[in-house]
Amino acid sequence: MPRIAYVDGAYLPHAQAAVHIEDRGFQFADGVYEVIAVRGGRLIDEALHLARLARSLGELRIAPPLGEAALKIVLRETIRRNGVARGSLYVQVTRGTAPRDHAFPLVAEPTLVVTARRARPADPRLAEEGVAVVTIADIRWRRCDIKSVSLLPNVLGKQEARETGAFEAWQVDAAGRVTEGTSSNAWIVTADGAVVTHPADHAILNGVTRLALIDLIRREGCQLDERAFTVADAKAAREAFLTSTTADVLPVVRIDGSPVGNGHPGLLTQKLRAAYLAHVAAGDA
Ligand code: PMP
Repeated sequence: MPRIAYVDGAYLPHAQAAVHIEDRGFQFADGVYEVIAVRGGRLIDEALHLARLARSLGELRIAPPLGEAALKIVLRETIRRNGVARGSLYVQVTRGTAPRDHAFPLVAEPTLVVTARRARPADPRLAEEGVAVVTIADIRWRRCDIKSVSLLPNVLGKQEARETGAFEAWQVDAAGRVTEGTSSNAWIVTADGAVVTHPADHAILNGVTRLALIDLIRREGCQLDERAFTVADAKAAREAFLTSTTADVLPVVRIDGSPVGNGHPGLLTQKLRAAYLAHVAAGDA
């Protein structure tokens, strides 16, 4: 089945789908995006993703390209035309095309691009054995809560992780606190069993997986502390893990080469991962 992309009202062969060279997404990274998991042909946690998309657009004063009902139709149609049962949807909205000038254009229609991709299940060893992270300086701007396509620090950070053989890089602020990964949220479990993750302020992206997991943690009756933790806290933690739409919940067993806990995936992490996978399988979002 040939890949099809949606671009501003048209479904086009993926290889021919394009936006204008003066699109502000291309020239200024003046746009936002979402990645939504597709399982059994259904969108997982769609409402949370659409709410975050609306929020990102609002913060940047970009007009929504479509109403919510129409956008939902486009998302489903893109899944259908690509025959995606398991994979992900990528949704990008930019401020539109206009002669290059930093300030907002007086007239511009937002650009909407939607693509769908099939994905095989992740290598089961990632969850069984856990993954390594490295820590890097958080060099990003102070509005990381906006899911902007301006991802250069994240790109450089992920590349550093890859070059050092780690799965992810955890970004650390000037005070030594872990904010989040380059494309995931960061969590630890303390010696007394509390689950800790950075509060959803301007320093992190409030992950949809993070939100879904917080709900499950509360339902499981576990203690949750939304507070910043340091690299030292993480190295001394009983367990650590990361969350994202594409990685689900993955145990972190090494931080900068030091083992976390006994160096194996933690029991609470495994329990929360199972609860999250059940939530996804139920499509109850
Ligand atoms: N933080 C950052 C910087 C990210 O890019 C992502 C992935 N989009 C996340 C956290 C996790 O968010 P989500 O659970 O919505 O995928």
